[in-house]
Amino acid sequence: MSTGKSVWNRNSIKKPLLAYSNNKCAYCEQNISSTSNYMEVEHFLPKKPHSNLVLSWTNLLPACKRCNTSKGRYDPIADGMIINPADTYPQKHLYFSNLTLRYRDDIGERTIRTCNLNSTDRLFLVRSELHAAMHHSLERTRSDMKTYLAGDTSFEKEQQIVRSMDSILKSAGHERPYAAFLATSLLSDPTYLWLRGELEKCGLWNNLDHLEQSAKSVELAL
Ligand SMILES: [Zn+2]
Repeated sequence: MSTGKSVWNRNSIKKPLLAYSNNKCAYCEQNISSTSNYMEVEHFLPKKPHSNLVLSWTNLLPACKRCNTSKGRYDPIADGMIINPADTYPQKHLYFSNLTLRYRDDIGERTIRTCNLNSTDRLFLVRSELHAAMHHSLERTRSDMKTYLAGDTSFEKEQQIVRSMDSILKSAGHERPYAAFLATSLLSDPTYLWLRGELEKCGLWNNLDHLEQSAKSVELAL
């Protein structure tokens, strides 16, 4: 059923795009859904002059209203290539340094600028809050681990620590909102690395390793 005037703005197109992106904006990774007006169908090559591609799957991306508006009529062919999230691994062009997305080359620079991927009123704020929440969880888990290492080796304490790490790692899994930022922050965090080492020494790491692999798959480290 159509949800708007445009031929591409319908659920039969939006839903597969969202399924492919794990319900995330292809550019900024924020959560979006097909039922929200905030989700828009982005044309990587704009409708003008590429009218032959308005319904081509390879040209359609799920995007939030903010990113779609920022990109506007930018034409990657005429104006300079940017990252197409559907077929380009961003690690080649971008990396995170603290809260800031930085570029390795012209494609990365144009992508950040065109889609406003360091917007102070939105993405900086979101990253800051996510980082603070992750830091808090890591510190709480470090405190539990210290108690465990000091002698409270009860099964309950052990499970509490493993569950906490499981939850922290899942928040940075490839399918989660803002996964690239969270994975990059987490995997280089000194508290995380200390916890990982201690869990490994205690034989408690094995069941968490696949979650770390998921985070690593989207990490944008220098
Ligand atoms: Zn977005």
